[in-house]
Order: sequence, then structure tokens, then C-alpha cells
Amino acid sequence: MTQPKRALITGVTGQDGSYMAQQLLEKGYEVHGLVRRSSSFNRGRIDHLHHDDHLPGKNLFLHYGDVTDAARIHQLISELRPHEVYNLAAQSHVRVSFDEPLYTAEATGISTLNVLEAIRSVDKSIRFYQASTSEMFGASPPPQNEETPFYPRSPYGAAKVYSYWITRNYREAYDMFAVNGQLFNHESPRRGETFVTRKITMAVARIKKGLQSELWMGNLDSIRDWGYAPEYTDGMWRMLQASEPDDFVLATGTAYTIKDFLSLAFEHAGLNWEEYVKFDPKFLRPTEVDELIGDAGKAKAKLGWEAKVHPPELARIMVDADIARLDGAPEGQF
Ligand code: NAP
Ligand code: GDP
Repeated sequence: MTQPKRALITGVTGQDGSYMAQQLLEKGYEVHGLVRRSSSFNRGRIDHLHHDDHLPGKNLFLHYGDVTDAARIHQLISELRPHEVYNLAAQSHVRVSFDEPLYTAEATGISTLNVLEAIRSVDKSIRFYQASTSEMFGASPPPQNEETPFYPRSPYGAAKVYSYWITRNYREAYDMFAVNGQLFNHESPRRGETFVTRKITMAVARIKKGLQSELWMGNLDSIRDWGYAPEYTDGMWRMLQASEPDDFVLATGTAYTIKDFLSLAFEHAGLNWEEYVKFDPKFLRPTEVDELIGDAGKAKAKLGWEAKVHPPELARIMVDADIARLDGAPEGQF
């Protein structure tokens, strides 16, 4: 019997990490996830993977650690000898990165070097995926693709630019299979609750149930290219199965403003967003990214990857899930 492939996922408790773990288990991988110790439970997105009868949940192993701890990362990689590493851990919130720029530089930037260095010294044949982002393009006008110059507009974007380049440098300098997925915003019912789409869909569900009457928000005019997270984690996996290491944009190519998303989400619940949304300057950023619209042509041509779910369907999926949660649906369902 052939041994299953082994993967290590940093950020396994996050939105993408949880979908990645699920999809790799479904493919028969042995999955190892890095988890941070927290005083309250933070495994809500992956807990169901241990109990789902359709998944070989016994192949999921969790290890305490932190990507800023180089010694721990080295030790884990040399102990586990994974075939693939998905580096998804980060301080991932743009607004928060203005409050915690140094921590963001460490957790979102330098930490990538910790993982790459561990791989370089343990086994250079380990394949490495870096969670790069459209935030690196920042103020560069759309459509953005792999050739678009970087112009980050936040400490988060700047930290991710470092991670992007150190990943490319290790690929070129040490002949490692190290790739960047330059992913545009992707959302789901598992999206963090302070990102704009999820904040909106949770509010719609709560307003619908009479639990909330106002929604306080910042800039409603920026344009984003929102896709569906499980499709994007499939794209990450495809990047690590390719014959050559390369960098890829994943995006839907669609352009919607925050107002458009408000309208899609509220209308799906039979509500008019303008009756509920209020402005609070605390949600503005010192520098904003006005327009992100991706061109994923290269991923389509070379990986056969294409986004199927676009914002109107995405808004419906997310609103329905948040309403179902309030009706008591178990978390593992989403
Ligand atoms: P997320 O839900 O915020 O998850 C982030 C994960 O990183 C969580 O598991 C978190 O653990 C973990 N983490 C944070 N700091 C850590 C540290 N110092 N050590 C170890 N683990 C740490 O993010 P996501 O939406 O899944 O995104 C995954 C990755 O893709 C991130 O790197 C993000 O920046 C990047 N990205 C996301 C998007 C998007 O639209 N979602 C687009 C482009 C790129 P806790 O549960 O303990 O907090
Ligand atoms: P980002 O693209 O990674 O910054 O993802 P977010 O979901 O955090 O923000 C997307 C856009 O929504 C940005 O242009 C924000 O300025 C805008 N936005 C407007 N109001 C809010 C809000 O209340 N919360 C968040 N997170 N973003 C908001």
C-alpha cells in the first residue's frame, strides 16, 4: 500500500485552512495543522472534521505552535517531513494592521521566512504554498494580474509583499518548489466576522430575526473582486501539483462595490439596506485600496482553474448560512 501524502497547514483554524484541511482529507492526505493555544476555544471551523463520517478524520493531527517561533517551525517540519506545506497563517486583517504594524510585519511577513528556512535546511523537495494577496497590488489600477506592479496601501499589504519576494527568492536561489497564490478576496460562511462581507451577512440575519436594528460601516465605495473560498483552496492545491513552480492570480474578474454587496445581501432577505446602514469613521483606513479586479487568465490556462461562484450567489450562500445558524444549525454544516 502506498503511503498517503502528508501536508502541513499553518492557519488551519482559519477560513482557508479549514477548507484546505477538509479537501486534503477528502483526497486521502494525512493532514497536520498548526494551532495556537488560546484561552477560549478557537477550533469551531475544524471541529467537525474529526467527527464527519465521510472524512478520514483520524488523519487530522493538530500541533501547537506559532509561525513567529522559528525553532518550533523547524522542529515540526523536521519531525513531520510533510510533502506539502500550505502557509496560510497571518494577521490577516487590513484595518487591524494599522493598529499593530510591527506584529503584522512579524506574523504576516517575517514568519514566511521561518517556514522557508526550515524547509531549506530539512528537505528542499518539500513543496511550499504562500498565501499572497491582491492587497499587494493596492493602488495599481485594475485589472491586476501577475505582471501588475505592487503598490501596497497598508502594513498588511507591505508585509505580504515581503513574503511574496522571499518566496520567489527561495525558489530562484535554492531551486525550491515555492509558489505564491495572489488571491483576491474570497469569502464564505466561515469568513472572519469582522471582514466586510461576513459583517454584512451576519447583520442581515440578525436584522431579519429582530435581533439588531443598525449596521455601522465605513467606506462603501471601494470595489472588490469577491470569490468563494472553497474554490480558492482548490486553486492552492492545483498550484502545488503543477509540473513547475509558478505564481498565480486567483480571482473572479467581477467588480462590485460594498454598496452593491449590501444590496445583494439585504435584498436576498427582503430588506432595504439603506434603512439600516449607518456611517462610523472608525471603520475607515488611513489609506484605502479603492479598486481590486483580478485577471485569472493564467490560472485558467495553466491550472484549469476558474471561479464559478460570483458575488450574487456568494451573498445568497452567506446570508442563508447566517440565518440557518440563528435557527440552530450545527456549525459543522457550513
Ligand atoms: P483567517 O481566517 O484570518 O485565518 C488566519 C489563520 O492564521 C488562523 O488560523 C489564525 O489562528 C492563524 N494565525 C494568525 N497568526 C498566527 C501565528 N502567529 N501563528 C500561527 N497561526 C497564526 O484568514 P483566511 O481568510 O483563512 O486567509 C488565509 C491566508 O490567506 C492568510 O494568510 C490571509 O492573509 C491570506 N489571504 C486571504 C484572503 C481572503 O480574502 N480570505 C485573500 C488573500 C490572501 P487563530 O485561529 O489562532 O487566530
Ligand atoms: P480587505 O479588502 O482585505 O480590506 O477586506 P475587508 O472585508 O476588511 O474590507 C473590504 C472593503 O470594505 C474595504 O475597502 C473596507 O474599507 C470596506 N469597508 C467598509 N466598511 C467596512 C467595515 O465595517 N468593516 C470592514 N472590514 N471593511 C469595511
